[in-house]
Amino acid sequence: MSVPEPAGGEEKQAKEVEDAEKYSFMATVTKAPKKQIQFADDMQEFTKFPTKTGRRSLSRSISQSSTDSYSSAASYTDSSDDEVSPREKQQTNSKGSSNFCVKNIKQAEFGRREIEIAEQDMSALISLRKRAQGEKPLAGAKIVGCTHITAQTAVLIETLCALGAQCRWAACNIYSTQNEVAAALAEAGVAVFAWKGESEDDFWWCIDRCVNVDGWQPNMILDDGGDLTHWVYKKYPSVFKKIRGIVEESVTGVHRLYQLSKAGKLCVPAMNVNDSVTKQKFDNLYCCRESILDGLKRTTDVMFGGKQVVVCGYGEVGKGCCAALKALGAIVYVTEIDPICALQACMDGFRVVKLSEVIRQVDVVITCTGNKNVVTREHLDRMKNSCIVCNMGHSNTEIDVTSLRTPELTWERVRSQVDHVIWPDGKRVVLLAEGRLLNLSCSTVPTFVLSITATTQALALIELYNAPEGRYKQDVYLLPKKMDEYVASLHLPSFDAHLTELTDDQAKYLGLNKNGPFKPNYYR
Ligand code: NAD
Repeated sequence: MSVPEPAGGEEKQAKEVEDAEKYSFMATVTKAPKKQIQFADDMQEFTKFPTKTGRRSLSRSISQSSTDSYSSAASYTDSSDDEVSPREKQQTNSKGSSNFCVKNIKQAEFGRREIEIAEQDMSALISLRKRAQGEKPLAGAKIVGCTHITAQTAVLIETLCALGAQCRWAACNIYSTQNEVAAALAEAGVAVFAWKGESEDDFWWCIDRCVNVDGWQPNMILDDGGDLTHWVYKKYPSVFKKIRGIVEESVTGVHRLYQLSKAGKLCVPAMNVNDSVTKQKFDNLYCCRESILDGLKRTTDVMFGGKQVVVCGYGEVGKGCCAALKALGAIVYVTEIDPICALQACMDGFRVVKLSEVIRQVDVVITCTGNKNVVTREHLDRMKNSCIVCNMGHSNTEIDVTSLRTPELTWERVRSQVDHVIWPDGKRVVLLAEGRLLNLSCSTVPTFVLSITATTQALALIELYNAPEGRYKQDVYLLPKKMDEYVASLHLPSFDAHLTELTDDQAKYLGLNKNGPFKPNYYR
């Protein structure tokens, strides 16, 4: 199966599946509120998504996402009190099961409270759980998962279990596990193998414990970063061949799937949930609109009113950052390479400048381009004293941090994730998270955003697991637009938002089905 070209390539036309089989599960879950989107009677459209550019190779040992810090998920119960590796411990839960490996099973009660707090702002997922509980659309599904293990993920895992799945879970990041949450899951009977501060060896050992089990073979994969998929593919090819579907959440993991597909080695269907519209909007625009301030304030206690801030890149993330900063009274400049985004910035009331024009006067520099060397050593040399520099883009390539590691500059760690880089004349630049993603390193991600992602993941699993033979080939698919719309509709009751229903006449006029999809597949 051929793979679309990397970034810049035309998005493929939606592929109509010649299968009008009803989505019985969707029919059930959409019965409840009056104006819900109906899936049952529609032919579904499926879109393949163009390959994202990326440079990762499947041969590396551990993905970057598995080592990037992710303190929003940091455990409240740190583990420094206990030096014994969980692998050396004999632990059982209150029902006598030892089918797990966590830091300390005794933290389960605390973890349960964390999960209950997360449930409060994940009402869409909970409502999916309640609506589908009777039908058990995941009965017989044996899901092996590798994601951040946080209170929000626990709500997802417990939803999958309530829908009939058996789950075994490992962490996709060696630092991000909330130990108490892992303990609560283990206490509830989920086979979880994860703790905060795993070594690389532990990381793979945990993944292996999820897959390599006597008398249990996974038939679905839920992955974030592609490490689990990679492990099953390499180590257990016969298991891999029998997987019914892979759901992948990250850019990196999706890219790896496209690589496999391109090489003709992807022998199972995979769903790219990273690029579903709801997830993209929430992760990039709305999440960053909230977390940029959180990350900056937690690390620096900066006041934004009247401050001069330059935001590099006016894509989704940049737009979110600019909106939040403007609302607090900051004077915001934007740099862009793309005239369309630059014009949008102008329309939104921001001055579009070259970085070199404002670099001497700004108080804060934020990169969100996804590009490299946007802030160079020359820029850093020209910044004023106390200028704060941080990155909201995916990787730590945007600020040339390496160029600051020279003998004439002194580094002073003043707080966790905050370095003062001091020039010989005493000038200090405040570098946050060493140029890594600020919000994931220094603040929390709103639970509501994770609810969107988790609901998308749950629906993608249900769809792949229940799809009739032939609906999905051995390729990478986007979540069908109608399900994306369904994810959004499940979140509307949180705001007491009421959708307007198309009249028959209006639907005919617009050429739409009254029940959606309401937008074309290329809509972002
Ligand atoms: P986008 O493609 O919509 O926006 C990036 C913008 O940067 C584009 O408009 C592009 O023209 C511009 N750009 C590129 N090079 C530039 C340069 N040298 N100078 C100025 N502008 C430049 O992407 P996005 O969705 O906004 O995501 C941006 C980055 O943030 C990506 O790396 C993405 O993975 C990451 N991201 C971060 C978070 C987070 O929580 N922090 C969430 C989602 C995405």
